[in-house]
Amino acid sequence: MPTNSFPAELTVSPIPAFDDNYIWCLHNEQYAVVVDPGDADPVLAFCEQHHLQLAAILITHHHRDHTGGIGKLTSTVNELPVIGPRGGHITGITKSVAQGDLVKLPLINREFSVLEVPGHTLDHIAFVGHNALFCGDTLFSAGCGRLFEGTPGQMHRSLNKIKRLPASTVIYCTHEYTQANVNFALAVEPDNSALLEYDQWVKDMRSQQLPTLPTLLATQITINPFLRCDITAVKESVIAQANTELSDEIAVFTHLRQWKDNF
Ligand code: ZN
Ligand code: FE
Repeated sequence: MPTNSFPAELTVSPIPAFDDNYIWCLHNEQYAVVVDPGDADPVLAFCEQHHLQLAAILITHHHRDHTGGIGKLTSTVNELPVIGPRGGHITGITKSVAQGDLVKLPLINREFSVLEVPGHTLDHIAFVGHNALFCGDTLFSAGCGRLFEGTPGQMHRSLNKIKRLPASTVIYCTHEYTQANVNFALAVEPDNSALLEYDQWVKDMRSQQLPTLPTLLATQITINPFLRCDITAVKESVIAQANTELSDEIAVFTHLRQWKDNF
């Protein structure tokens, strides 16, 4: 199952926050970069415990559970870069980025490219590099983000952007929604053997209170119905549920997302 893909000198740790958020922390022995700090206190505690200096914040979208800690962190750490979506609507962002921009993080020796992935929100971006993807609330293990602002077509396109990354990409999602998502995925594809096997692994991990994340893109392509709208079994299941013919993949995705919303 997925393991950390970074070289030994960089570690990516999940800092749990709220009920089911993970604030991903990329750190070496001295510096830390956090993604989507919805809460400052667990980040400050983690940095203190591991003797780390906070070097930057990355933000994927404007929701409070991803941005709520910015104020306290920037007032605690001097001149802390906060890199996130453009638009000026997120207080505390010091560097706005858009599709294709390169985010340089010299203190942890990493560079990430920005992917625009609208759907969950319109401002949603993801950070990709070094065989890793920090995707916020766009993709979850066995699921995807709710459509709060974008259209199903936008989200479908965003997920396809992710799907085209190398299958070895390690995906760092922001929420531990995996078991509930797997329960839904099994309703869509009860005979998917990879999914049945994954369900057992998730149950095992969660019974030990261990995270099911990160996950591999290769795994998601075999188990995540939202990346499988082109697969006959998924299409037939969604058509049966919707009780209508669905002309294209976006229509399948649209009904699949609605089905999950009401599941
Ligand atoms: Zn969100
Ligand atoms: Fe969230």
